Amino acid sequence: MSTDRLGAQSDERGGERVYLDHAATTPLRPEALEAMLPLLGGGFANPSGLHASSRRARRVVDDAREQLAAALGCEEGEVVFTSGGTEADNLAVAGVAYGSGATVLASAVEHHAVLDPTLYRNGVLAPVDGDGVLDLDRLAVLLERHAATLCLVAVMLANNETGVLQPLDEVVTLVRDHAPGALVHVDAVQAFPWCDVAGATASCDLVAVSAHKFGGPKGVGALVVRAKARERLSPLARGGGQERGLRPGTENVAGIAAMAAAATATIAERPATVARVAALRDRLAEGLVSSRPGVVEAAPRERRVAGNCLVALEATEGDEVCYLLDAAGIDASTGSACASGAREPSHVLLAMGWSRARAHSAVRLTLGATSSATDVERVLEVLPEVLDRLRS
Ligand code: PLP
Repeated sequence: MSTDRLGAQSDERGGERVYLDHAATTPLRPEALEAMLPLLGGGFANPSGLHASSRRARRVVDDAREQLAAALGCEEGEVVFTSGGTEADNLAVAGVAYGSGATVLASAVEHHAVLDPTLYRNGVLAPVDGDGVLDLDRLAVLLERHAATLCLVAVMLANNETGVLQPLDEVVTLVRDHAPGALVHVDAVQAFPWCDVAGATASCDLVAVSAHKFGGPKGVGALVVRAKARERLSPLARGGGQERGLRPGTENVAGIAAMAAAATATIAERPATVARVAALRDRLAEGLVSSRPGVVEAAPRERRVAGNCLVALEATEGDEVCYLLDAAGIDASTGSACASGAREPSHVLLAMGWSRARAHSAVRLTLGATSSATDVERVLEVLPEVLDRLRS
């Protein structure tokens, strides 16, 4: 595979590749590139210095903070820049629980960036139903049971594998009623391109986002830390006093500016993008389901973000499907993580009650702002043939 001057990816035969892995990462938006380029050149100064060049860099960070705060519906002083979603989630979970024996509760379908620090502290996992949505009755029971020691409840807004949205308002109400001592953390990393994150998380204490999921660069993200959480959050690293001491280290000025530009552009285009991509995704999902037997969507589409099309392809292995799609110029992924050669089925799909065999058959096709009808038609042409080949 090679990359041309404009960044379009093409395969060895020179044909354009079909990129359907936007949940893994998105192409850099032109607004983000434009914002970051000058800062990689002449505008390179450290924002913590006292001289004019540093003061200029500081202004860039301040402006980006203001823009991102508007995008996330919080105060400027509540934005903590991080190295991405993983660090933001870890800061929320481990930073609130830091040095205490307090309990963390998370949904069973969280990304590993939340799941692993939760399990590391022997946290509690709340079950989901067959559609991947939190079981609110069982959540209420768990909150009651652990109320005395609970310091944090972590629930993602949109799932990275299935795209399923969680009923955040109901979760927050339950936490405030049953475990008022606990903070609420929301991983909004996958939701940002598709949902009004500012509105959806207005009553939450901590919110994580990551730039590369919405057209920004990799390696930069943010954690919203609202006042109640600020009092209880400890930094995970010690050093300079940047980010109000919560995330010491010289800021990624270019990345921060690019993230703010990408967030603003994403929000401006969001309603149109969601409508267009949802129509493409529906065509893709319906086309796949009707093309061959044994193609099953992960959950009802109205419960999922617009760009997600995760399907079980019964009597196949998802990684074999992805391998053949790859050879045909289509970038897709499985619903499973691959650890040290032994592929374990996705904890998300198992938590939804899928069998191991069905979870292994999952393929995740995720569309984004740059996806087109041509991409969809190409998958509809290739994937049924791939199924025939693997099943024969
Ligand atoms: N949370 C969710 C839901 C994600 O999908 C991801 C990345 O895939 C992360 C957290 C981690 O973000 P990052 O890649 O910026 O570390």
